[in-house]
Amino acid sequence: MKQYQTLLFYKYVKLADAEEYATRLLRFCKKIGIKCRILIGDEGINGSVSGTPELCKEFTEYITSDERLSNVWFKMEWVDEPSFVKTHVRYRKEIVTLGDRTAHLDPNQSTGQYLEPEAFMKMKDREDVVILDTRNTIEFDAGHFKNAIHLNIETFRDLPTKVGELEPYKDKKILTYCTGGIRCEKASAYLMEQGFPEVYQLHGGILNYYQKTGGKDFDGKMYVFDNRIVTDVNDVNPTIISKCYVCGNTTPRIVNCANPECNLHAPMCEDCGETLQGACSATCMEHPRKREYNPKGYYVKPGVS
Ligand SMILES: [Zn+2]
Ligand SMILES: [Zn+2]
Repeated sequence: MKQYQTLLFYKYVKLADAEEYATRLLRFCKKIGIKCRILIGDEGINGSVSGTPELCKEFTEYITSDERLSNVWFKMEWVDEPSFVKTHVRYRKEIVTLGDRTAHLDPNQSTGQYLEPEAFMKMKDREDVVILDTRNTIEFDAGHFKNAIHLNIETFRDLPTKVGELEPYKDKKILTYCTGGIRCEKASAYLMEQGFPEVYQLHGGILNYYQKTGGKDFDGKMYVFDNRIVTDVNDVNPTIISKCYVCGNTTPRIVNCANPECNLHAPMCEDCGETLQGACSATCMEHPRKREYNPKGYYVKPGVS
């Protein structure tokens, strides 16, 4: 029985006191001892927390006690152990960054039409539809919807520079999706601004789709920004698509390199993990700072507390 919870949440809402709020929230999280990764910005909140159900409840009550955040949607998953080892609450101007030319975008003013998971599932295979994965390459490579297109972006900030590649699809309906929905709020707004006439977004992202539909037609695994690295999000017709970075064999495992100065996130099979002692290459294996091999393959990012 999984005894811990991980909550994923966001809300775009103007927070005039964002910096101060971030300080307050960090103090609160440290006081109750919940592990998390949260960004507070002038445009809202974006984060994930993990802990016992009691701790998570305490956290959600604290957040929603602020009326600006009273209706934040917490997407919950059960997990074997807390998904974070540290408590991070940071202030940033934006909670999702698309770069300077999109700083004016406000999803509360304009954004793509929400598609609930069932509707997304029905629509995604239509002829007049194209599915756009708005996440980064590492996430796309770990898993994605069948037939989804991707713009080969290393970071979300690169999306505006690649939008030209979508020109051939201008007469199609564009269905955007990401992990929990936050990036599509902006990506879909941006596409609309660029003249794409029909832009939709998967409400609540892959995570909500999995929980509502069982995850049909999501190939591979879902990359997550915590110590699980990837999670399973398809109970209907799961497949493995990632290939070992070292030997090229198909493997569901995605790990980070045991050399803290490399820290590469990549698929690595158990055999290669064992042989290279968790490193991504022979050079990394011999690195003096290489961390002790952990078969689970997750090493905490060095130098951050
Ligand atoms: Zn291998
Ligand atoms: Zn490495």
